[in-house]
Amino acid sequence: MTDVMEKMSENNDVADYRAAVSGWLDENLPAGFLSDSPTFADPGTEEIRDWERRLYEAGYSGMTIPRAYGGQGLSFDEHLIVNQEVGRRALPESVNSIGKEIISTILMAMGTEEQKRTYLPGIFSMKHIWCQGFSEPQAGSDLAAVRTKAVRDGGKWRINGSKIWTSYAQRADFCLLLVRTGDPADRYRSLSLIIVPMGTKGIDIRPIRQIDGSDEFCEVFFDDVLVDADGIVGEVDAGWSGAVSVLSVERATNRMYRGWRFENELRHLVSVCEAEPVLKVRLADSGTAAALRALSTDARVVQLYAEKIVAMIREDRSPGPIGSLMKLHWSEAHQRLADFALRLLGAQVPDPSPALMAARRRFQTIYLRARSESLIAGSSEIQSAIIADRFMGLPKGRAAQ
Ligand SMILES: Cc1cc2nc3c(=O)[nH]c(=O)nc-3n(C[C@H](O)[C@H](O)[C@H](O)COP(=O)(O)OP(=O)(O)OC[C@H]3O[C@@H](n4cnc5c(N)ncnc54)[C@H](O)[C@@H]3O)c2cc1C
Repeated sequence: MTDVMEKMSENNDVADYRAAVSGWLDENLPAGFLSDSPTFADPGTEEIRDWERRLYEAGYSGMTIPRAYGGQGLSFDEHLIVNQEVGRRALPESVNSIGKEIISTILMAMGTEEQKRTYLPGIFSMKHIWCQGFSEPQAGSDLAAVRTKAVRDGGKWRINGSKIWTSYAQRADFCLLLVRTGDPADRYRSLSLIIVPMGTKGIDIRPIRQIDGSDEFCEVFFDDVLVDADGIVGEVDAGWSGAVSVLSVERATNRMYRGWRFENELRHLVSVCEAEPVLKVRLADSGTAAALRALSTDARVVQLYAEKIVAMIREDRSPGPIGSLMKLHWSEAHQRLADFALRLLGAQVPDPSPALMAARRRFQTIYLRARSESLIAGSSEIQSAIIADRFMGLPKGRAAQ
């Protein structure tokens, strides 16, 4: 039992809290939302947005943000419990996790009082969807190469340049944009973070069709876009530290449900195979059994990283490179799970059941999506470089900055 679990078992309040979250989710889940059910009906953005709004109203999002800014004013322990219960159910991905988990954290750390009061409540109530405009065609892993420029123009900033891979840009109300405000030769001390309303004149958003048929991310072009000076988050030219902390949040506390969703996927896979005689035989194969054991260990490892991160935050310690360890392990293991599931479910089965057809659809989507998981939020090579530098103390390379 981990420290976290010991504390939880000592505390009846924790068990009550978990039961309340679990009960609320079961009672309020919209029909067709669970992708491990044969009745799954892929919900659209507005349905998910409405679901997330209800989740907030019930007290289950914005967990660690103070009430004054629209959050629940609770701790990462409650945040973890909600994530565990969400992860145990095959729920759709949030359409505003960038706002709820990344932008909110950066505004709490670097934003002015006015920015916090203005922007945070709308994020959790789902009034405003946010996107994160960091990556550019020549600046992905190496964000210090960002070229999109912002120059002072009276009381405003004038922005020119382009971003790529900007998730949800076409649906977003605001973007937290990383821009060059100083001398490009000073790579790390000439970047700033600025809030850009996405309806501003001069913004051209072009969605990119992905391999799974979705258009989650976009190219975004900025042509003489004028933004209020009070949109700067933190100090001018000091956006690099903000960008780095956004990325470490992205790895550590964002989407903490992943280890429990991994377990849900594994359970789903096994239960579908057990119900189909042809697949049940394959489950008994020693190679398949060994692969399943390895994958359930992977799920537990990712869960333990999340629990460790929460324990460290509780003790006021920085999770440091643990977020990179978790992200690397999860994305690589999730690709192995997706590959394994497709091979197993792809066997010829006479007269496949609706449950098997649903599982095939689910794992096909997971397989295609998993291709991007070793890239999003920092590639596996970049995570490895961070671990080599900060965990193992090996000589620092450029990627580990
Ligand atoms: C689904 C998805 C959603 C995304 N959403 C967003 C978003 O909302 N906002 C946003 O700003 N960005 C987003 N991104 C972009 C993501 O952060 C970048 O794809 C990522 O940082 C890698 O940058 P890149 O694609 O330019 O690849 P590159 O940096 O060009 O890297 C290409 C390859 O080279 C390797 N490499 C690069 N540098 C090094 C090095 N120094 N050492 C070793 N290997 C190296 C990389 O590991 C990778 O394998 C998203 C990406 C995906 C796939």
